[in-house]
Amino acid sequence: MISHVDGYLEHIMAVCCDNRSGAVADYIPELTRVDPEGYGLSLCMHDGHIYSRGDAGTKFTIQSVSKPLTYAFALTRLGFAETDDKIGVEPSGEAFNQVSVDDRRRPKNPMINAGAILAASLLLPPVRDIGPGLVDTVFEEVTAFYSACAGRRLSLDVDVWHSEAATGARNRAIAYMLDSFGVIDSDPEAALDLYLRQCSLQVTTDDLAVIGATFANGGANPRTGRQVLAPEVAQRVLSVMTTCGMYDGAGDWVTSVGLPAKSGVGGGILAILPGQLGIGVYSPRLDQHGNSARGIETCRHLSTDLGLHMFNLT
Ligand code: GLU
Repeated sequence: MISHVDGYLEHIMAVCCDNRSGAVADYIPELTRVDPEGYGLSLCMHDGHIYSRGDAGTKFTIQSVSKPLTYAFALTRLGFAETDDKIGVEPSGEAFNQVSVDDRRRPKNPMINAGAILAASLLLPPVRDIGPGLVDTVFEEVTAFYSACAGRRLSLDVDVWHSEAATGARNRAIAYMLDSFGVIDSDPEAALDLYLRQCSLQVTTDDLAVIGATFANGGANPRTGRQVLAPEVAQRVLSVMTTCGMYDGAGDWVTSVGLPAKSGVGGGILAILPGQLGIGVYSPRLDQHGNSARGIETCRHLSTDLGLHMFNLT
């Protein structure tokens, strides 16, 4: 027997599945190899219960949904002062792959590629000429952190990683531009490699929902009971997700959906209601901002129907 929550999730998926607008990301060749019709939805409640429907078990690459996680890991490792000295918290209002820096030449925020590549660099030792072996070690720590948030061991999609590395001219340019500004203390090539690997970790919507619930819970994973990050780190990351998480569509998202969120070009969206729940949606056709078109519509329905907007006063 399905619960009324599952029934409701099926209902909104039936409503939104007619939305075939947008297109699957094709600037990374390997990303085109997905089923454009794929559609999954998961909710993880603060008690750890997961409701999931559709293709909730389908694996896809986390892509930019990794950005809040690596930012959280950098804040945890280095503390606020050192991280803030390198990465700002201001919305850029520009596309994800713009080189948006402030007057101190810091990336404007950690949710755009420039800020995310810099956040990855902060996890590496402050030396040049870091070989792939050392990146392996740090990537293992990053994977362990993401996995603790998700409550299960995540793995790398090697084909997507290689595809991103082979076609990553824009990201390589961003890494070297930051290096030329003197803001990367580490090796730009290694920072880029770490960033591309983190983007290529595979998740399901269940994973995103649990990651969201972990942040919603002040950093305690509701399924494992483990305190994965400090409440003040969760608070900071949720704040930056609210203002900068949805690329240049962030303002529209906050007014209409009203949840801290992050999307990725793999088609995933992570949305969080602080203190309550995490939401994971997957549907790979993207709108003009690079956000899952059907995923956005799904979140709009969830927010409106369930009164999830964080400033809901009705
Ligand atoms: N790996 C992707 C890139 O940096 C992530 C982009 C995204 O999901 O927005 O190009």
